[in-house]
Amino acid sequence: MDFSWTAEQKIWRKTVRDFAQKKIKPKIREIDTNKKIPKEIIEDMAHLGLLGPTVSKEYGGAELDWTMACIAAEELGRADISLAIPVLYLVEAAWGFIFSQYGTTDAKEKYLPKVTSGDAFLGIAVTEPEGGSDIVGAAKTKAVKKDDSWILNGEKMFISGITESSNWGGIHLTLARTDPAAGHKGFSFFAVPLKDNPRIETTLLEDMGRMGISTGGFSMDDVELPENHLIGEQNKGFYYAMEGFSAARVLIGATCVGASEAALELGIDHIKTRKSFGRPLGSFEGIQFPLAEHYANIESVKLLNYRAAWIMDKMYREGKFSHHDVSLASAMSKLRAPIHAFAVMNEVADWLGAAGYTKEYPVEMGIRGVRSYSIGAEGTMNIMRVIIARELLGKEFLPYK
Ligand SMILES: Cc1cc2nc3c(=O)[nH]c(=O)nc-3n(C[C@H](O)[C@H](O)[C@H](O)COP(=O)(O)OP(=O)(O)OC[C@H]3O[C@@H](n4cnc5c(N)ncnc54)[C@H](O)[C@@H]3O)c2cc1C
Repeated sequence: MDFSWTAEQKIWRKTVRDFAQKKIKPKIREIDTNKKIPKEIIEDMAHLGLLGPTVSKEYGGAELDWTMACIAAEELGRADISLAIPVLYLVEAAWGFIFSQYGTTDAKEKYLPKVTSGDAFLGIAVTEPEGGSDIVGAAKTKAVKKDDSWILNGEKMFISGITESSNWGGIHLTLARTDPAAGHKGFSFFAVPLKDNPRIETTLLEDMGRMGISTGGFSMDDVELPENHLIGEQNKGFYYAMEGFSAARVLIGATCVGASEAALELGIDHIKTRKSFGRPLGSFEGIQFPLAEHYANIESVKLLNYRAAWIMDKMYREGKFSHHDVSLASAMSKLRAPIHAFAVMNEVADWLGAAGYTKEYPVEMGIRGVRSYSIGAEGTMNIMRVIIARELLGKEFLPYK
């Protein structure tokens, strides 16, 4: 075992931190208010290799391994505790990787260079209006083969990046039934471009937080896609979706760690200087004990995250470990990280007193943003528990078939 960073990892962290602290952090209130990530930030991220960072170099990606991808996720979370930019980053990192692994060469050539250069968005569309947790039971979206095309009908809901995809162009990797009788073995994944498609209608939702990136839905009415927009093998879509979710969950863990550390550091500065009853707040045990607890929790989540990233690197680069190992490790990160991040931010808001309830401090943005992860983005807390129990007990104990 070796818990130290390599020289390359240290340089990468410093590079992303310098950029994010200088260019992103000063803009987060503006991003939260205007509900938009400025184009110059997108361009700078593209320049640094932070858009579709895990995509292969052939298509303009940085081909980062998962440890390096987590380092960047932490630094983006540390700079933007509203978590809007981290969401854009991690969605494209996780799902760009899936597309890069399994998409057809034609489709990859068409979309990926635009994603990695910041001229297009790449998102994921699994959830439907009737349910996200039980996607096998709830999914109604269907794709039917007609000559050399696929025809898609159905509706996706609570999807990140609807405005970005509609305005910039790009694709949402979209799950649809291709063999309705086959349960989870009857889904396929498609690259669906939303922009300028008269057969697609989009809707937008007003979120609680992470305002810089949109959430909404889209319905498809006989949307025709070329054959090469099928991703990977027909009827393997459910497995690709699970693979992408595992990757996204580890990166979510890392963004939560970065945002928690930023909030805790802000809190530490405050309790060292703010006086009450003639002493700094930080000299009271009632303040010190939660500080110690939160610090230990953040460190434990960090270990879970980097272990999960390490397992992923071993699996993808050395053929060791399995998708089950990755799924278990990433579910544990996702189960712990948003809960601890929320607790840290809530505590720091308390330490700030009335100021913690105002927009003078970024903590309220963090509280609103991190709740997206504990409510459900990339899987709810209970679904993480279901995954962990499945890995411990065996799939015959699953509450569903
Ligand atoms: C901000 C945000 C962004 C999102 N972005 C995307 C996106 O880009 N793409 C996408 O496809 N989806 C996205 N989602 C959707 C997300 O994946 C779903 O919200 C999630 O899967 C839960 O689905 P649901 O909202 O339908 O809740 P439901 O599945 O209806 O669940 C409701 C509640 O019931 C609980 N529950 C369900 N089943 C069980 C069970 N067996 N045992 C115990 N409890 C259970 C859940 O844990 C949850 O608390 C996003 C969600 C949010 C909040």
